[in-house]
Amino acid sequence: MSLYVGFDLGGTQLKYGLINEKYQLNYDSKTDTPENTSQLFQLLENLWQELREKTNGKTIAAAGYGIPGIYSIQKNKILQSPNYPEIDGLNLDKIFKSFTPVPFQINNDANMAAYGEWKAGAGQGSNSIVLLTIGTGIGGGVVLNKTLWHGECGFAGEVGHIIVNHSGERCNCGNRGCLETEASGPNIVRNYLSLSQVNKKMTAKDVASRAKNGDSNAKHAFNQAGYFLGIGLGTIINVLNPDKIILGGGIMKSASLLLPPAVKEASQRSFEDSFECCEILKAQLGNKAGIIGSAAWAKDNL
Ligand SMILES: [Zn+2]
Repeated sequence: MSLYVGFDLGGTQLKYGLINEKYQLNYDSKTDTPENTSQLFQLLENLWQELREKTNGKTIAAAGYGIPGIYSIQKNKILQSPNYPEIDGLNLDKIFKSFTPVPFQINNDANMAAYGEWKAGAGQGSNSIVLLTIGTGIGGGVVLNKTLWHGECGFAGEVGHIIVNHSGERCNCGNRGCLETEASGPNIVRNYLSLSQVNKKMTAKDVASRAKNGDSNAKHAFNQAGYFLGIGLGTIINVLNPDKIILGGGIMKSASLLLPPAVKEASQRSFEDSFECCEILKAQLGNKAGIIGSAAWAKDNL
């Protein structure tokens, strides 16, 4: 039985591990993402040594690298990485080839998380799923008719940039009122601070615990975010008619606050039959989705 390596490169952490042929995680670990690329490539080379020592004599057959940002599958290049700009414009294929001892794949990290949830998590057995990972930002990926949907050039699945509020906040992407600026963690905090007229540094988790303790402004902050999330979900349902929308990311720890207003709004914003056809549920793989997905993608493309 062979093993498959998955790397999930984030702006702050690099997660990595091994899966077996049943897509089960055999080993995983994480480390801080280095600040510059020469340190990153040296680190990856060292991690290969660590991974080889964790195989229990089994063979590593392939590897997948999940990379943050816009990755062009036509040019084999990372075009733009807002969360890790050090890798912008690099031909990672060429660089990774110098230290990767097996056939490998490179893909967008959010696509890889979607692929992982589809193969081994909440999307198992489905034909068409959309994953939304809600944290500091909102990322996602799309599987249609049992195929990861890249779009023509590799840039599809940017569900966080569906416009849900025409007069909303300016987004990092340059647009205004994206789902990411209206329903992510920082926005829940912003909602709360503005409703309660409080000026304090806090996290979405703090707002959630205030909501659970009966703070009506905190509940309302989640309702507002859920309302915009629901508009986004309704759009996804109308356009793609998926059988599942899977929601992951740190904010889903507060699913009981965010999901009810989101599901309600989605039902009002989409065709009834399409809404009924779609199950909205929580992701299962947590922050391991990217490792498992990258490794699974490498395995399935061998
Ligand atoms: Zn945007």
